[in-house]
Amino acid sequence: MGERKRRYKHLFVVVIILLTVVGFATEGYAAGAVDDGLLPEEAREAEGKVAYLTFDDGPSSNTIPILDILDEYKIKATFFVMANPSEEGMQGYREMMKRGHAIALHTYSHDYRKIYTSPDQFFHNIAQLETFLQKNFSIRTKILRFPGGSRNSSSKLYGGPGIMRKIIDESKKRGYTYFDWNIDSTDGISPAISVYTITSKVINGAKGKEKAVILLHDINAMDHTVTALPTIIKGLKKQGFSFDVIHEGTQAVQFK
Ligand SMILES: [Zn+2]
Repeated sequence: MGERKRRYKHLFVVVIILLTVVGFATEGYAAGAVDDGLLPEEAREAEGKVAYLTFDDGPSSNTIPILDILDEYKIKATFFVMANPSEEGMQGYREMMKRGHAIALHTYSHDYRKIYTSPDQFFHNIAQLETFLQKNFSIRTKILRFPGGSRNSSSKLYGGPGIMRKIIDESKKRGYTYFDWNIDSTDGISPAISVYTITSKVINGAKGKEKAVILLHDINAMDHTVTALPTIIKGLKKQGFSFDVIHEGTQAVQFK
């Protein structure tokens, strides 16, 4: 009788352990689903919808406010940075890294008169940024965004017609992958662009898209970007988007 009792006791212990494991697993799943803010059916439909928030031209005095909002929503973004060796700038790169965001290239100086005179000048400027990022932060990346995008028309003023074609061809030879965007928030046009305009450009632009690469800016004067960000994130979540950073394996969005 004692023997049988012990056996039941063992069985009882095993059942308890199993129930605990199953309980944890279920709870983990449920927590994940709640985190998305989606009902299970919406979550299934949303599978594969990915938004890439990209911030150009930083770091700036808006970097930390932007990072704080991203933290609040547990979202990672991609920063196409320039060189900003000020104390504020250095802190900006450190925080981007510490909080798990992606850093990619956007030229050292962003000065069209220099970068767009020739492919050599362009890649000299990129090399300066790469050295700066490697030396100070051990950042190495071959992902880049051209200032103004790959189809900007201002570059012709400095490098003649066909300058972007030449730079694009050279970028491929040198092993870079460039990213344009398929949603322009228009926040970079001027600080006068309203929060409403920035928000609705993104929310409306994302409708019907599977992959949304969203152009935003991290610039001192562009406070409206920061104010618009929570509404943009909530709106995209409501449309079923999840968020990711741009990395080596991400399929590039490029203007045709
Ligand atoms: Zn830029």
